[in-house]
Amino acid sequence: MHIKPKKRLGQNFLIDKNIQRKLVAFYNLKASDRLLEIGAGYGELTKRVAPHAAFVYALEIDPELCKILKENTIGYANIEIINQDVLKFNLKQHFRKVKNKIKVIGNIPYYITTPIIELLLKYQDKIETIFITVQKEFAKRITAHPGSKDYGSFSCFVQYYAIPQALFFIKRTSFSPQPKVDSCLLELKIRQEPAVKPKSEKLFFKIIRAAFNQRRKTLRNSLDGTVSLEKLQVFFKKDHIDPNIRPEDLALKDFASLANL
Ligand code: SAM
Repeated sequence: MHIKPKKRLGQNFLIDKNIQRKLVAFYNLKASDRLLEIGAGYGELTKRVAPHAAFVYALEIDPELCKILKENTIGYANIEIINQDVLKFNLKQHFRKVKNKIKVIGNIPYYITTPIIELLLKYQDKIETIFITVQKEFAKRITAHPGSKDYGSFSCFVQYYAIPQALFFIKRTSFSPQPKVDSCLLELKIRQEPAVKPKSEKLFFKIIRAAFNQRRKTLRNSLDGTVSLEKLQVFFKKDHIDPNIRPEDLALKDFASLANL
């Protein structure tokens, strides 16, 4: 049984069976893994991962789809279907009795990629690894390094908490209905400790956001009003940084060093 896909819910279903198999292989699952799947759809991926994991919690917002999902997964004792909006899901509460860290997987709905990643990183102490399919351009932004045009405040935010890796690209023709862009399997391996240690995370991220708000300007100009010129001059001298540097050329350690001043 099939429903009419709802565009507003990002319902582009992965129909290419080879890619489904490839995804599961890349998840590199262990029999003890507890998985949270975001946007389970008809359960194609859910059914493929279940035999390789201890338990799968499958989140799906669409009640119509949930009904079919339940029918499709009858007989799988280690799958629980949860009819809920991922953005309202309290991961900490749900997994409070689970000692080991969980893995998150899913061909997520693209219209909420950023809030999903923000939410997952909020619960980073509960998560080991995240494997999500995102738009190719988005994966480029998240994995970008200093000096690249794709590097920005969101790259810094994600890389502070996780080690991102674009694992493989997926053509738009693998989905139905076909989206306008190609996709990518993105891995976010959660760090045990953040990448750098600013004294104040709040200030660290405030500086990063302000810096990239006007990324074409020099750092001096983009931080005008956020960091005093005197402090910036101390920073340039102390860290041997060119005073005409642009925000996109600074690494996380540089932003932390500046925030600590
Ligand atoms: N897993 C399926 C697959 O691989 O074909 C479906 C992927 S489809 C790109 C995204 C799924 O996320 C849809 O089934 C959609 O209904 C669901 N979804 C959309 N918004 C959601 C939300 N806020 N919370 C949970 N699921 C959501």
